Amino acid sequence: MTRTIYLDHNASSALRPEARTAMLEALEATGNASSVHRFGRAARRRVEDAREAVAALAGVAPARVVFTAGATEANNWVITGCARAGRRIVTSTVEHDSVLAAALAARVPVDNEGLLNLDALEARLGEEGRPALVSVLAANNETGVLQPVTEAAAIARRSGALVHCDAVQLAGKAPLDVDALDADFVSLSAHKLGGPQGVGALILRDGVALPPMLVGGGQEQRRRAGTENVAAIAGFGAAARAALGGLDDFARLAVMRDRLEGRIVETFPDTVVFGAGAQRLVNTSCLAMPGLTAETQLMAFDLAGIAVSAGAACSSGKIAESHVLRAMGAEPMTAATAIRVSLGWNTTQGDIDAFVDAWIALRRRNAATVAA
Ligand code: PMP
Repeated sequence: MTRTIYLDHNASSALRPEARTAMLEALEATGNASSVHRFGRAARRRVEDAREAVAALAGVAPARVVFTAGATEANNWVITGCARAGRRIVTSTVEHDSVLAAALAARVPVDNEGLLNLDALEARLGEEGRPALVSVLAANNETGVLQPVTEAAAIARRSGALVHCDAVQLAGKAPLDVDALDADFVSLSAHKLGGPQGVGALILRDGVALPPMLVGGGQEQRRRAGTENVAAIAGFGAAARAALGGLDDFARLAVMRDRLEGRIVETFPDTVVFGAGAQRLVNTSCLAMPGLTAETQLMAFDLAGIAVSAGAACSSGKIAESHVLRAMGAEPMTAATAIRVSLGWNTTQGDIDAFVDAWIALRRRNAATVAA
């Protein structure tokens, strides 16, 4: 069996050993975190310990962290909650679908590098209308481009808008300071930073109004009813703690990512790297291989034991056209040939060398086939 190389950490990162240990311990313990006996109190301790770790990752007080079943839930909660409370939703064209599909929203354009047009945001907010919720993601999942969230929040404040930031891809990869972002709501997801799938968090500003996500129980300060998923939450906490401690180490991925792009562009100078002119996450590269669709590339890489993804996340195994690359003005033909390579906490230089060799070989093979 050939070696397998996993370069799809923006889709789901590898489970960190610390998270695995914490989850196994929690699974072996009996008890509901709401019970008053010693079993219940032990489960409660695991949940509160995890809350502290996630709060530390975001630079906030633990009481502001509400656990959810992932970031899709957190994003849906904020957007639909604010829309129902009468706010208009103003967002960007490059958000995750869990924001875009949650409510009818005004979508502010981005430039060719994928950066939010702040003048257009200001103009939108200046229009007469109900108070707004502005939702801008911190880092794009397809390109890694970092958005000017603090600047967007300052503009939003001037019009009395609330601010939501989907920080799913930033958290654990670069320092996250929720107060510096000046956001009222921030969404996080455990599995993007080495925790388990199906658990995330919404961070809320003290005193901000938002109807509960689920009702029928007093859990999570009455904001999200239902027995806590203690093992998943414990895994999230352990992963958050490890990710925070490993931020400097994560930064080393910039060298690997830049070498990856450098070798490819040196060999084929016409290669398009999306968002290369903007500040990006250190672990993400979105590149087009002219003449070969993303789907064909994914299959070829998979045969070579390398897991990457199409520029657009694919759901139910189908690759859709990327709304992100379209919003950046990419030619449809070019966007259709874009793949995303995303490095993670356990990526090695050997993985990157193997990927680059495979990418160059595939392109050469394709060029030879086309020429024949
Ligand atoms: N926002 C962004 C930017 C994401 O990349 C993702 C995951 N693809 C989500 C939200 C949804 O997170 P979850 O998988 O926890 O529902």
